[in-house]
Amino acid sequence: MKPAAFVYHRPETLEEAVRILAEVAPGDGRVIAGGQSLVPIMAFRMARPPDLVDINRVAGLDRLAVVGDRLVIGARVRHRALHEGAVPGATGVLLARLMHHIAHAPIRTRGTFCGSLAHSDPSSEWCLAAAALDAVLVAQSMRGVREIAACDFFQGVMTTDLQPDEILVEARLPLLPDDTRIGFVEFSRRAGDFALAAVLVTYRIVDGKIAEPRFAIGGAEAFPRRLAAVEARLTGAAPDATTWSDAAAQAAALIEPLEDAATTGDYRRDLVRALSLRAFEQTSA
Ligand SMILES: Cc1cc2nc3c(=O)[nH]c(=O)nc-3n(C[C@H](O)[C@H](O)[C@H](O)COP(=O)(O)OP(=O)(O)OC[C@H]3O[C@@H](n4cnc5c(N)ncnc54)[C@H](O)[C@@H]3O)c2cc1C
Repeated sequence: MKPAAFVYHRPETLEEAVRILAEVAPGDGRVIAGGQSLVPIMAFRMARPPDLVDINRVAGLDRLAVVGDRLVIGARVRHRALHEGAVPGATGVLLARLMHHIAHAPIRTRGTFCGSLAHSDPSSEWCLAAAALDAVLVAQSMRGVREIAACDFFQGVMTTDLQPDEILVEARLPLLPDDTRIGFVEFSRRAGDFALAAVLVTYRIVDGKIAEPRFAIGGAEAFPRRLAAVEARLTGAAPDATTWSDAAAQAAALIEPLEDAATTGDYRRDLVRALSLRAFEQTSA
């Protein structure tokens, strides 16, 4: 099918973009970034926005830079831009590793990091990274600029705190210490598909014990989140098989799994347990 007719706006400055969006958002006008989620939805007529505000020419939104102790990812930064070596340190390693799991090469060439966050598919790798790393998300509208913590941003399946007249202008991620260990595993039925569940874990070793753990799951619940109880189990523990097996069982018990015709909640719990174990094993390899 073809999308319903729409008016196409192509602003060149952020001021112009937020002004147009303020005018069209009340009538369901939308931002379009990479178009890799929005265009298929429009083609299936699941969305019929009468106006599209294309941000691909907006100056300044292509910023990918380290600013102080933060990595800034602007709204026009494509998935593929986060390839190996593009971002320094452990945060760069983590992003590059996740990037390879997103869809297929053409989608990675066009889709954007911030577009994924705004779209908020429960399985999105970037949403999982944002939740795990406590990203700060910067939204701009005619009403001003506001910073939203990732834990407040994600609110449900494809539901965020972003208001219809707001543009997500950038995401800010912390730079993890160089000695951070990273484990990431996801499971999808076919290569490139959205994951049924994913686990991301990072920590450091201090005096032989686990320190500063971050443990987050994606795909299994309505939106990705850190599991504080699992992190508490990991903190100060030895990085060994007993710790991994306890923490994996705890994660499986804690989640509120999504269910659908092909995937039961019990299956997703077991998947989270198995993927957690594998993610932990990666960190000690
Ligand atoms: C076959 C296929 C497989 C895929 N597999 C995966 C996968 O495995 N993992 C994964 O994470 N993604 C996957 N995707 C989705 C892909 O990563 C998209 O690129 C991404 O979800 C959306 O980014 P975008 O820039 O294309 O956004 P768009 O499609 O342009 O927009 C998506 C939504 O976000 C809004 N939006 C976009 N940018 C902004 C902004 N800056 N401010 C406010 N609102 C904004 C739009 O209004 C729209 O509602 C897949 C897509 C396809 C078609």
